Amino acid sequence: MQRGTNLGRLGDFNQAVIFESIRRAVDGVSRVELAGSTGLSPQTISNVVRRLLDEGLVREDRTIVSGPGKPRTVLELEAGRMVAVGIHLDPGVITVVMLNLRGEIMHSRRLDIPAVEVPEKTIETMARTVDEIISMAGVPRSNVLGVGVVVPGPLDPVRGVMTNPPLLDGWKDVDMVEPLHRMLKLDVLIEKDTIAASIAEQWKSNEAERDNFVTMYIGAGIGAGMVLNGEIHRGISGNAGEVGHYSTGVVAHDCDICGRNDCLHAALAFSKFAQLARERGLDLTVPADGSVAERAVGIAELVRLAKSGNEAAVEILRDRMGLVGQVAGQLANTLDVGLIIFGGPLWAEVGELCLEDVSSIINERFISKNVHAVEVRSSSLGHEVGAIGGACVVMDANLSPKAAALLLR
Ligand SMILES: [Zn+2]
Repeated sequence: MQRGTNLGRLGDFNQAVIFESIRRAVDGVSRVELAGSTGLSPQTISNVVRRLLDEGLVREDRTIVSGPGKPRTVLELEAGRMVAVGIHLDPGVITVVMLNLRGEIMHSRRLDIPAVEVPEKTIETMARTVDEIISMAGVPRSNVLGVGVVVPGPLDPVRGVMTNPPLLDGWKDVDMVEPLHRMLKLDVLIEKDTIAASIAEQWKSNEAERDNFVTMYIGAGIGAGMVLNGEIHRGISGNAGEVGHYSTGVVAHDCDICGRNDCLHAALAFSKFAQLARERGLDLTVPADGSVAERAVGIAELVRLAKSGNEAAVEILRDRMGLVGQVAGQLANTLDVGLIIFGGPLWAEVGELCLEDVSSIINERFISKNVHAVEVRSSSLGHEVGAIGGACVVMDANLSPKAAALLLR
C-alpha cells in the first residue's frame, strides 16, 4: 500500500492514492478505513472524496454498522464512469478491448487482418474498430481516458515506434501514435507487449502479490515484465526485460534479431519446433518457413498431438519450455521474487502441458530456495493479456499514484 502525505502540494497524488484504495476495495470502503490505510488526515480524505463524488468517479449509497457509534457510509467505485481501450498488435492477430475502471472487460474484439503488412490500412482498421466499440458501449467520448497500443519490442521511446518488429514486415519505424490520435481524437500511448502484460497482471492482482513479481511473455517474441517494490521496471528506454536473448547454452540456429545462435528466441522459433518434430518422425503439415498464420497452425498441431498423448510431441514442447524455465530461474535469482506469471499466445497453447515442469526447473535453479519458494502460474488473462495491458497502461497513466511518469508522448 502506497502511503499518502499531508504536506506540500501533492493534492493530485493524494487523490490518486485515495482513488486507488477505493478502486481496490471490492466491497467498498469507509472514510475512516481510508484514513487508516492511506495515513492521510480525515480532512484530506474528506476533501478528496468530495471531489471524487463531484466527478462521479465514486458513489455513496450504502452504510455499514459495525460496533457502537453511527453507521459508516461506504464509498464505492463508479466503475463505468471512465473507460480505457487497449489495442494489441501481435504478428498473428490484433485484439482490441475496452475496460472499465475496475479493469473489467466491457468489449473485446479479435481482428483478422488479411494484409497486416500494410500498416496504413491496418491502423485505419484499428481506429474504425475502436470507434465501433465506443459507440456500441454507449460511452461518451469524453469518458474515454485514451488508447494504449501494445506492440512487440524493442521500441524507440522518443519516436514511439518499433525498431525491429519480429514477424511484422513493413512495420519498422512506423508511427502508430500520431495517426491513431488524429483519427480518434483520443490520447494514445504505446507500450511494449511484455511490459503491458505486467501492468495488466498488477491491475488484476491482490494486495499480497502486487508489489514484487515477474511476468514471462511467451509469444512471437519472448520477454519479461518486472514489477519491483510496486513499480513497473521500464529501464531508461522502455525496453527492459529482453530476456528472449539470454543464452540458453544450447545451440539452435542464428537468431534473426540478436545474431547469436544460442538465445531463447532462436530456441523457440517455429523452424526449430518443425525441425525437432521432423527428427522425431512427426509430420506437421506446415512448412518450417511458413507464414505467421501457418506457424500458429503448426504449433497448434503439435499441441494437439501432445494433448492426444503423443509422447514425442509432449517431449518437444517440454524440452523447449524447459529452456524458458532455465532463463526464468536465472531471473528469479537476480530479482529474488516469489511469483512468476506466464502468459502470451504461445504459452496459452502449451502452458497446461508444461507449467509443472517449468515450475520445477525454476525452483531447482533458484538459489534461495531454503528461504522461500517461487510460485509459478499461468496468467488468468488468456490471449487478451496484451490488449488488457494496453488499456491498463492508460488507466495507470491517468489514475495511479506512480512515482515515475510513463507517457512516451
Ligand atoms: Zn536472439
